Amino acid sequence: MSDQPNQTTYWKSLNELAQNEEYKKFAEREFPENATELTDQVSRRSFLRVMGASIALAGFASCRKPIQKILPYSRQPEDLVLGEPLFYATGMPFQDSITGLLITNNEGRPSKIEGNPDHPASGGRTNIYHQAAILGLYDPDRSRSPRHNGEKVSIDDFSAFAAGHFSNTGRNILFIDEATSSPTYHRVKRQILENFPNAEWVTYEPFSENNALEGAQLAFGQRLRTVNHFDSADVVLSLDDDFMNPQAGKNSVEYSLEITSKRKVESTSDDMSRIYIVENAFTNTGSYADHRLRLKSSHIAPFTFALAARLSQSISGLDAFSGVNNDFSNHDWIEKIAGELLNAQGNSIVTVGADHAPETHAAAAAINLALGNAGNTVTYHELPYRENRDENQAFLDAVSELKAGVFDTVVMVGGNLAYNAPADLDLALALGNVETSIHLSDYVDETSRLSTWHVNRAHFLEAWGDGLSFTGQRSIIQPQILPLFGGISEIEFLHTFLTGEVSAGYDLVQETWNGVITSDFDRRWEEILHDGVDAESGFDTEMVNLSEGFSSSIQPALTRSPIDGIEIAIKPDVRLFDGRFANNGWLQELPEPMTKITWDNVALMSAATARRIGINPERSFRHNRVPKVRITAGERTIEIAAWIEPGHADDSITLTVGYGRENAGRVADGVGVDTYPLRTSENLFYQQATVESTGTTYEIACVQDHHSLEGRDMIRTATLSEYKEKPDFASFESFHGFKVPGMKEAIAAGDDRGPVSLFNEMYGPEHQPQWGMTIDLNSCFGCGVCTIACQAENNIPVIGKREVGRRRIMHWIRTDRYYEGDPDNPTAYHQPVPCMHCELAPCEQVCPVAATTHSEDGINQMTYNRCIGTRYCANNCPFKVRRFNFFNYSKEYLTTGDDPEIIQMAMNPQVTVRFRGVIEKCTYCVQRVNKAKIKTKIATGSKKPADGTVQTACQQACPANAISFGDLTDANSIVSKNKSNDRNYVMLEEINVRPRTSYLARLTNKNPELS
Ligand code: SF4
Repeated sequence: MSDQPNQTTYWKSLNELAQNEEYKKFAEREFPENATELTDQVSRRSFLRVMGASIALAGFASCRKPIQKILPYSRQPEDLVLGEPLFYATGMPFQDSITGLLITNNEGRPSKIEGNPDHPASGGRTNIYHQAAILGLYDPDRSRSPRHNGEKVSIDDFSAFAAGHFSNTGRNILFIDEATSSPTYHRVKRQILENFPNAEWVTYEPFSENNALEGAQLAFGQRLRTVNHFDSADVVLSLDDDFMNPQAGKNSVEYSLEITSKRKVESTSDDMSRIYIVENAFTNTGSYADHRLRLKSSHIAPFTFALAARLSQSISGLDAFSGVNNDFSNHDWIEKIAGELLNAQGNSIVTVGADHAPETHAAAAAINLALGNAGNTVTYHELPYRENRDENQAFLDAVSELKAGVFDTVVMVGGNLAYNAPADLDLALALGNVETSIHLSDYVDETSRLSTWHVNRAHFLEAWGDGLSFTGQRSIIQPQILPLFGGISEIEFLHTFLTGEVSAGYDLVQETWNGVITSDFDRRWEEILHDGVDAESGFDTEMVNLSEGFSSSIQPALTRSPIDGIEIAIKPDVRLFDGRFANNGWLQELPEPMTKITWDNVALMSAATARRIGINPERSFRHNRVPKVRITAGERTIEIAAWIEPGHADDSITLTVGYGRENAGRVADGVGVDTYPLRTSENLFYQQATVESTGTTYEIACVQDHHSLEGRDMIRTATLSEYKEKPDFASFESFHGFKVPGMKEAIAAGDDRGPVSLFNEMYGPEHQPQWGMTIDLNSCFGCGVCTIACQAENNIPVIGKREVGRRRIMHWIRTDRYYEGDPDNPTAYHQPVPCMHCELAPCEQVCPVAATTHSEDGINQMTYNRCIGTRYCANNCPFKVRRFNFFNYSKEYLTTGDDPEIIQMAMNPQVTVRFRGVIEKCTYCVQRVNKAKIKTKIATGSKKPADGTVQTACQQACPANAISFGDLTDANSIVSKNKSNDRNYVMLEEINVRPRTSYLARLTNKNPELS
């Protein structure tokens, strides 16, 4: 190993790698052209749309601080201490799974979401959908009343209709719902099916667990849920399963916590699990893996079968695959991975992405069983509420019946069939033909507009409910606020068809739980409400055996040919999922974790594929304008922006859904392209397509080259074995090969606290505590939850696509994504970058009005009232973490729309809302720090909160436990221990600004035979 193992080049974009003139010009220009103008109509329109409707245009001209009046309570509610939030446990349902949450409630309004540490699916952590749900609650575009034939009516009108219409129990009714695990929902559903003997009930999710369940049926003869236990696995093989991200699975938080816990390295004696991934597009899980193979989606199945065939030579139970001989049978990876899996029998996991065919899931299940993983690292569970059938097929059959006129009434509980059902079904036409259609939904969306009745749904933070976690633990969903727009929940909606009136959700849930809690009901109810979970519940683990017919049933799939030529893969979007989160500005503006694109979806492809379709990747891609392509699959065509993704499989194009909405809300409408038209019931996930350049271009707001640190090596990586050989590989001296400039002189002068400084400042003053942060890059997988959690905590505004394109994104913590190596097949890393809270902060030294100064406990703080907006500090910040309010983003954000007070309710009252002309940035969540200090002082008289008492918002949300924060004067604090870790380093140590935020370098656990 060389003395400088990490003299590698990390790059954020192909333009940076090429160091072309355009990139240099872009990087050198700190602020874009026209930075202070918002004059053109397009930019003004896009900004206004984000902020809401009826905007006061005068706001743009105003530099004055907004004046608002506050009034005291005339009678203060009992149990409420002003300024002291209350916390309640609840759970967020997502498909048929629920994650336990703790809601911060300020004087009756929920304002922040955290994970519930007692809930197994959360462990105190969250994903981006959980964090963004608070903005979804206060979305002024949510539906505000039921509608009949498009006209607003009251909920009483609807229940009066229901009482009459459903008094005829002989009706032929089709119920189509979303997946849910709610015991109360399923109890009411059973009652309805008993009451209406001619009713049919099917479930449709555009992206579901159905293929995995069908795979278990093939392998074991039972539709069982597969649960992986990544904290017990030494070797993981992911076959196109982005299991760390929420769009790809319902248990992403628990899975992320588990797998990162197996890769924590505190010293050279620690080991890590090893992750292999095979996938077409670069995912977060792919960037976290130690080895990544890029393959077209249609090649995943033959790869899996070839692996099973190779394993069948060494272990029993895989005879069904023994004759397989395909293109991958002699692939280097097959032999190497087979060897790894055989060495880790009982301690490995093979997992398959939800979109792959049942046979691929069945093959993985057979491999896990043969390796002895079943019952150890992989368990199987029966879902008590699932029908024992292929739910996708049941849905297709029901739609055929609907078209044939079998049903007189269709009831749709959630979902958005007119938008996201397979395009060949033409659901919009079918709904138009049915006599009565009723749709419960959050928005008057595409489906509601075609329905006879629309009923506005209550948000999960507004209604009583219940649900089961991914592994079966029961929780009660308790409302945090009355329905803002008078909506009703799913259970209240359904119960109306039984009684003709809207029943109280609370009574319905209690009725269910009365059957579950067999003694001491009131005490147990209160206990479960308080804890947020019934700790005594959970799915039983099923013992599994290969079903007798397995070999013959899987044979047809083993010889199926993969797609020849270019194929498209249609996937749920990381941020918008199936489109249900499209009107959430926080999610739209979160840079997509790998491409760093905001406010759009694109056609991802490799450079080779671009060339194949006639696009020159070296010339055609500019920072803002990219070529558009025309994609035709079957009879349908779309046009969409192309994007070259390093590491994407050749001859494969990845599209995501959720965009191109109409009438879905002011944020969602007109953003991106609707790709659902390419999905058919035969080809839901990938299919052959023809692709050609349109010859036109499209503007993209991508932040990958924003805040560029211009080629400096901010990220440090090594293999686990390199680390063991040279533990301090990440420190300046090891990395750069010479001592920190000025250090020798400082030591000669008798001062070893840091290199010589122009400034006569104390390093580590006597005051205690002294705050600091570490970010473990070996845990971070770049999900972006920290960014949204920070946005929610610190009242950070949404600014819209055009403003983002002008490099004005306001996020206080960004996640830089770096590539390394072969541009066609690189490795990727993530680095969250908040303010470094430098000891010798360059920003403080240039502020002419002392608006940015140092607190005695080491926080680089902003005094907004003093800031006059010179932006000298932003210019002088080497890490580019300061954000400027070019406009009154927050004011427009808070005072516009139909009901401005609705959005204001999402704000954290403990954080100042900034106004135009002011710089802002990460404060280490100073409001949380000060609150803990005051509480500790009152309780103990000490100024030092105990370690762990203060958690920053990013730290608390992170599902990888990557961020630690605490007192540097406490040698036993986690952050102090991390700072003394061999892998600890600071960015730009050579400029001697002494950042308080440091990083633990990234490690990879390579298989030496495959490197
Ligand atoms: S540090 Fe941020 S981006 Fe990284 S895993 Fe944690 S929450 Fe996700």
